[in-house]
Amino acid sequence: MVITQNVECQICGEEYFLRVGIGYDSYQKHYIDCLECEQPIVIATRANPPNAHIEPVENATLHEPDDSKTVINLHPNCAFPPEVYHDRRKFPSLNHLNMVAPFVRMRPGKFQDFATQFDIPNAGKRWGQVKAILKLPVNSSKARMRRRLISRYSDKRKKYNPDLSHATPSDVMCEFLDSLFYPRINDLADPVKALIDQLHADNQLEGFANYYDRNLKTENLNRYLSTLSSFFRFRDQLGQILDYARISSDDVDGKVVGSKNFEEIKLFYGRFTKR
Ligand SMILES: [Zn+2]
Repeated sequence: MVITQNVECQICGEEYFLRVGIGYDSYQKHYIDCLECEQPIVIATRANPPNAHIEPVENATLHEPDDSKTVINLHPNCAFPPEVYHDRRKFPSLNHLNMVAPFVRMRPGKFQDFATQFDIPNAGKRWGQVKAILKLPVNSSKARMRRRLISRYSDKRKKYNPDLSHATPSDVMCEFLDSLFYPRINDLADPVKALIDQLHADNQLEGFANYYDRNLKTENLNRYLSTLSSFFRFRDQLGQILDYARISSDDVDGKVVGSKNFEEIKLFYGRFTKR
């Protein structure tokens, strides 16, 4: 679905005709740089299917749609080739669906929904819940609270996939990361699984697990929580190349996204997009 709205840069008065695709999240920010004064303009889409509308966030005044103004295409999950960035007839989400379709985990005999079978809707909010669960001290005094947080997370996720089940913090973490980064998550998980198999074969798994729990677990958990929190801070801007990264596609070079900050983010993020 594409919604349209005109937005005026409050600094220089230049007006743009925005065509904005709706992604997985109910609230989605978009960053563009004004083509005249180069200052950032920030708008957001708020979706409550089948309705969606655009809200001003920063340096933006909204006007009625008027497609005589410069067209800007935005989509939370697509990077645009320069020749279609200002094209009023493009529907990039169709190309995007074709791109991710081979990687969607189909549910035999059930209604298929790409948005929920390839990604986690409102992942930023779910991450807040996951982080709270993982940060709770593992002691019995918090057991009730832990069960309650896990059950709240589980209720939200089961709305999209009733087959999911979460009993422990590990279940939550594994399902969340798997759903968020599949199929690329396997590149991270496979070496870990191979190491576990090797340690098991050498009869060293228990010793290693004890050593890991005593000496490495807390430090590593804090590092992962911090890395993922950084990821979610940038996710609105990273989103336009995230799906390419997940399916190991380098087909983003030369494509236009809204904000010039994006080039810096892409460099930072390149470690994830390149094999
Ligand atoms: Zn401007």
